[in-house]
Amino acid sequence: MRERALLSFLLAAAVACAPAADPPEPAPEDAASTANEPVTLDARTETLSDGREVEVFELASPSGVRVELIEVGASISRIQAPDRDGTLADVALGFEQVEQYLENPPYLGCAVGRVANRIAGAKFELDGETYELAANDGPNHLHGGPGGYCKVLWEGEAAGSPGAPAVRFTYTSPDGEEGYPGTLEAAVTYTLDAEGALRIDYQATTDAPTPVNLTNHSYFNLAGAGSGTILDHVLELRASRYTPVDDTLIPTGELASVADTPFDFTAPTAIGARIQEVGGDPVGYDHNYALDAEGGSLELAARLHDPASGRAMDVLTTEPGVQFYSGNFMDGSLSGRGGAYPQYAALCLETQHFPDSINQPDFPSVVLRPGETFSSTTVYRFSTR
Ligand code: BGC
Repeated sequence: MRERALLSFLLAAAVACAPAADPPEPAPEDAASTANEPVTLDARTETLSDGREVEVFELASPSGVRVELIEVGASISRIQAPDRDGTLADVALGFEQVEQYLENPPYLGCAVGRVANRIAGAKFELDGETYELAANDGPNHLHGGPGGYCKVLWEGEAAGSPGAPAVRFTYTSPDGEEGYPGTLEAAVTYTLDAEGALRIDYQATTDAPTPVNLTNHSYFNLAGAGSGTILDHVLELRASRYTPVDDTLIPTGELASVADTPFDFTAPTAIGARIQEVGGDPVGYDHNYALDAEGGSLELAARLHDPASGRAMDVLTTEPGVQFYSGNFMDGSLSGRGGAYPQYAALCLETQHFPDSINQPDFPSVVLRPGETFSSTTVYRFSTR
């Protein structure tokens, strides 16, 4: 929309940078990495049934990885990655129609805020004031509320540089939106590199003290969306502690050791190996892991591998925690790319500050104050082995 001229420039420059004899984008069958080819950016406009226009961006890497991004929820609407033979699959759940992201009950692929995850009792106190939020998950507030950042239209624009393009989404969240204090200026920038690493940079500033916890809610299935469950995926989490929860999924405040429990992924472990022991209703993982790196610098947090296809994904983050959600609430009633999504159809690795931090004084703080800049980075790095 706004930066159409810049986008045209970047597209032209990206094409100009490509070697004359080569097409600017690799055909799927030529998915193997080709040194010196640039990452490319493409864009198109789609019109929603209410008449609003939505930009759809596509980043394509010579590694074969392709990422589609949309202004609804600043969402990752598609990720394609090659297997060990170079065959592409959709490795994240997604909808075929942009329109469907306006509803998006499971939060497929979107940017979550103002505060990702749960706030107990849908309220918090900050600087002596009590703030009431919508209770949209039993008694609790989840993922920024019913009109959270997933459901709004962000403004997308081309960013980065020729050969290393990016897409930057911005959103002004007004004072009082969903009950949160202060106007928040939020930005999410997606950059794809030539090796197949998708980097997400979050930034935010505020004009009044407010809690902020931004994440991305992509659901990964490295075998391909709609092709069964992730129970055979092998996961490693660089976390020797997790935050146990009550029966409404609010942390008790304890940081418990994963040793000798089904929560232990410190060594690569099949997700299905001990999932039944986790319990819960529905059964499965929906827990925040306290990363050993504790946040602050970009460190490896998780490694995911699908032994059948050979696809692998590393997660790096500057955040202190990651919510491992094994798709427990999916029940086959939702269909998207690849067909119906059964329970455990995919998993989320939501990098974040711990759930309910605003009510938990011993957890790392999520409070952003005027004059400060919230910044956070997460990388989803795709490869094969
Ligand atoms: C939560 C789950 C929830 C899912 C979809 C995850 O981040 O932890 O409990 O069902 O998001 O809202």
